[in-house]
Formats: sequence, structure tokens, C-alpha cells
Amino acid sequence: MKKKVATIFGTRPEIIKMAPVIPLFDTAFTHILIYTDQHYSPELSDVFFEELGVRKPDYSLDVHSSDIGKLVEGITPALAEAKPDAVVVYGDTNSSYAGALASEALFPHIPIAHIEAGLRSFDDRMYEERARFQIDKRSALLLTPSKLAKVLLEYDPRITGRKYFTGNTITDALDHFSRFLPRIEEQGYALMTMHRAENVDDPDYFRQNLDHISTIAKRIVYPVHPRAKANIENEGIVVPPNIEIRPPMDYFTFLAHLKNADLILTDSGGVQEEAVYFGKPCITLRNSTERSETLAIGSNKLFDARLHKVGNGALKEAIEAVEGVVAKNTIEYPYGKPGVGGRITMILEGYLNSR
Ligand code: UDP
Repeated sequence: MKKKVATIFGTRPEIIKMAPVIPLFDTAFTHILIYTDQHYSPELSDVFFEELGVRKPDYSLDVHSSDIGKLVEGITPALAEAKPDAVVVYGDTNSSYAGALASEALFPHIPIAHIEAGLRSFDDRMYEERARFQIDKRSALLLTPSKLAKVLLEYDPRITGRKYFTGNTITDALDHFSRFLPRIEEQGYALMTMHRAENVDDPDYFRQNLDHISTIAKRIVYPVHPRAKANIENEGIVVPPNIEIRPPMDYFTFLAHLKNADLILTDSGGVQEEAVYFGKPCITLRNSTERSETLAIGSNKLFDARLHKVGNGALKEAIEAVEGVVAKNTIEYPYGKPGVGGRITMILEGYLNSR
């Protein structure tokens, strides 16, 4: 008899990265899909379900909040009704963390499998960093996106589950979806995403970031996340003329823009991975990253606007360095070969059948 697996997810990056895995789980298991809708914006969820062909969840919870308590409260009855043999969560969102907490409280003996385990920025001020660790600690199966992530788990005695390097499911998503990208004529621009609370919630710091970016001698295409947009409007932030604000893009449009861009500027985790997949130079507008593989390759560099005077040359230097690495054309993609979803499914199935 097929084992019953419940997958809990709730945000845009999880829809993208679970898209290749969900159909495989649907075949291998009796699969219950629980979606929290943490971000409650059709631009960040409905569009993605439709475009990526992700099936309707069995439970759509409309929690519409990032509050861990509210998410646990929303997830618990669904999970109690589902009574799974295993719970799967992805990455480091509050929905994933709440899913792990709800599972532990309801069914302490059923295993949690964590996809994208082992990422570390080593900055505990980031709530995602705390969530990653807390999920990893509770997981029986740790499915890592890179070899480095597996090593980081092996060095932490608090993480006791079984560790596997499967690759990152973004590899499967990009391998498949890049076939469907629209053709765009736009060229000669940098693509930017910036919406993390640390970058956009403090208006002075948001301005400082934009001031630095205004020194880049390029047109900057900036699809703006609702959170950043609200801050621009409410705080009367004047966007420099080289930055072109656009509405959030659907996934295929975003990837098409990424593929055509000369440079990527981002504070998103997923976009750093997509940049290395497409061999693009990337500047990460943060003071740490959990995607350290991309720093080691050299095609990605951190830039923290607080540490530099606008126009002191540090940003220019960072851009030249990442462009130099990409120009050599020797990047070794760190996130595994296609077939990641298949490997994850086999490992979970084997583990559940052996219990
Ligand atoms: N993305 C998108 N449209 C946009 C901006 C981003 O489809 O206008 C995608 C992007 O390709 C990446 C994901 O959204 O896969 C990143 O989401 P987010 O920055 O919200 O989360 P993070 O990656 O930081 O967890």
C-alpha cells in the first residue's frame, strides 16, 4: 500500500521549487498538499499555480499571515485530519517552520523530511536562519541542495537525521521551464529584486541602497514586490532615474528577463541560484548569504550598502569582479544534475518502506 505523505508550503519560491516534485509525490504516495497562502497576494501565488501547472492543494488555508502561531493554528487541523506517515517541508519560510512544529506536536513519531536542508548564512539575526536550523533539528531526512550544505550538516552534532545530497529542485524547475520562456527584445540592462525587510523597511536604508544602485551606468529593471512598493509609496521614496519600476513578473517573464540581463542585483535566495544556473554575474544586496557556493565560484558577491559611501568605487569593483569570473566561462554549477525530484522521491519512499 502507498504511504501517505503531507507536504506543507505557502509562498512563491516554494510553489516554484516544489512544482517539479509534486507530480512525482502524487504518483509515489497518497499525497496531501497543504497550502497556507502566507503571502495572500494573487500576484505572488495564483499566477504561479496556473503558470507552472501545480495542481490544486487539498487544503488551501488562507492563513494570510507570516505569524508562526497563526500558521501553526491553521495547519494543525488539516494535518490532524490527513494523518500522514511523513511530513515534507521546503526551505526556510515561516510556513515550513510552522509545518514542522505542527507535525512535531501532533505526531512526534512520524518523520519530517526537509527539502533544501543545510543552508546556512551563520547570521542568527535572520529569521530564515533560525527557521532552517529549527527545521533541520526536527528532521529525520535532510535532503540537501549542494554538497556544501550536506557537509555543514555533518559538522553539526545537533542535526541527527539522515543526510543526502540530492541537488536543488530549482535545477529541475529551470531545466523544464526554460523551454517555455517568452522571447523578449530588451537588452543592455541589469535586473534587480529587492524586498527583504532588512533592505526596504527602514526608509533611510532603502534610499541608501537605491543611491548606490543609481551609480551603476546601466538601466535597472526592478519588478517590485508588494512589500517594497508599499514602502516606496508610504515613505515618499524617490526612485533614481536609471531604475525602472515594473509590477512583479510571472515566473516565465521573470526568467526571460534574467536570461537577457547583463547583471543581476538581488536580495533573494532563489534569484542567486537562478543567476548561477544562467551563468549571470550577480551582486547580492546583503551582508551574508546562505548560498555560499555561489560566492566560492566567484560569480556572486555580497554588497552591503551600509558599509560603503555612495560612489566610493566598492560597488563598481564588485561588479567588475563578478563580470570577470563569468567572462572566463568556467563556472561549475553547484546545485546538482536534473532528476533532483526523482532522487528525493526515491529516498523518501525507500525510507518509509523500511520503517
Ligand atoms: N520571481 C518572479 N517574479 C518576480 C520576482 C521574482 O517569478 O517578479 C521569482 C524568482 O525567479 C525566484 C523567486 O521568485 O525564483 C524568489 O522569490 P523570493 O525573492 O520571494 O524568495 P526567496 O528566493 O528569497 O526565498
